[in-house]
Amino acid sequence: MSFHRDTWAEINLDAISHNVKSMKKHIGANVKLIAVVKANAYGHGDFQVAKAAISAGAEQLAVAFLDEAIALRMLGITLPILVLGATRSEDAQLAIEYDLTLTCFSKDWLDDAKQNIRQGQLKLHLKVDTGMGRIGVTKEEELNEILVFLNSNPCFKLLGVYTHFSTADEIETDYFKLQYERFTNMIRLIPDDNIQIHCANSATGLRFPDHAFNAVRFGIAMYGLTPSLDIVDELPFPLEEAFSLHSKLTHVKKVPKGTKVSYGATYEAGDDEWIGTIPIGYADGWIRRLSGSEVLVDGERVPIIGRICMDQLMVKLPSEKPVGTKVTFIGKQGNEFISVDEIAKRLETINYEVTCSITSRVPRLFLQNGSIIEVRNPLLINAATIC
Ligand SMILES: *Cc1c(COP(=O)(O)O)cnc(C)c1O
Repeated sequence: MSFHRDTWAEINLDAISHNVKSMKKHIGANVKLIAVVKANAYGHGDFQVAKAAISAGAEQLAVAFLDEAIALRMLGITLPILVLGATRSEDAQLAIEYDLTLTCFSKDWLDDAKQNIRQGQLKLHLKVDTGMGRIGVTKEEELNEILVFLNSNPCFKLLGVYTHFSTADEIETDYFKLQYERFTNMIRLIPDDNIQIHCANSATGLRFPDHAFNAVRFGIAMYGLTPSLDIVDELPFPLEEAFSLHSKLTHVKKVPKGTKVSYGATYEAGDDEWIGTIPIGYADGWIRRLSGSEVLVDGERVPIIGRICMDQLMVKLPSEKPVGTKVTFIGKQGNEFISVDEIAKRLETINYEVTCSITSRVPRLFLQNGSIIEVRNPLLINAATIC
């Protein structure tokens, strides 16, 4: 696979491997690690991250919706895959055909799913809503009703029960404890010991490994990112960031004082200045709000000036630099480092959103032991499938 553009993301698969292995050691041998690779592995690249996580010891995978799971199956991933979100009941048979595990979140959904199963057995994890307020069963009566129904309907196989915390990454733990207690009460109703019980996302698994029951759904921290800045000081092992973003100077020029730069002519050179143009813009996810933020050139921080365009942006260089000089938007250059969290802070959002927002127009290069082992460029993959 090739790409023909001087803007790319590097995904360090050794970092994924390090984070998975460290987490497995932290949660212990009796707790399974479910690698969460939804949203194209938080923008990193789901297939390659899944393979790296599996090699490092992940026992299962989880995604958000059915097509994400089917795509991984089509690429040859054979591990159990749990679909965390709500799947249309019409697609129950398809899930059986791809050997996927769906989330059952209400009795009504189960009734509808049954109508759509012609043959085989649908694997399920039952979602309990203990306070997230998203999907899941909230009442013990409904849970009991579902358990009775599953017992008499062999077209379903219950493999797990789980819940999701809304505040596991916060210092204050009262609400977390309330959710945990509700979950503990609900699972008392589950008779079978062989059922997988899980409630831990990254934050829970990192902070309270003894609250994990028998599996952890490991998402953000697998990518080397902290679940929140509040708990950075509590992390039980160092996380290694897997994602970095780079480009190159495509045009460098010296402009006289007073020269305007970019749309709206909002930037005016205060002196004679060296201006560099870089082929990345808001259509790549480097949104206009990032105007004024810094990038790394030759190990130095330089500011983005003027408005960010759809495909290009300009920076003010401290001196003349050759065309082709590497520019880093996220990652290291020399002693300087721009973290995903730095960008998140600038955008007043969370690190999760930053990597997810780098669009599929940016090719992903996968690195192992310092060399590129694979390139994923959806532009050309899509074209190749249509041709
Ligand atoms: C996304 C998601 C996770 C992973 O959460 P992280 O905070 O990224 O570890 C776990 N469980 C559910 C239900 C999710 O939707």
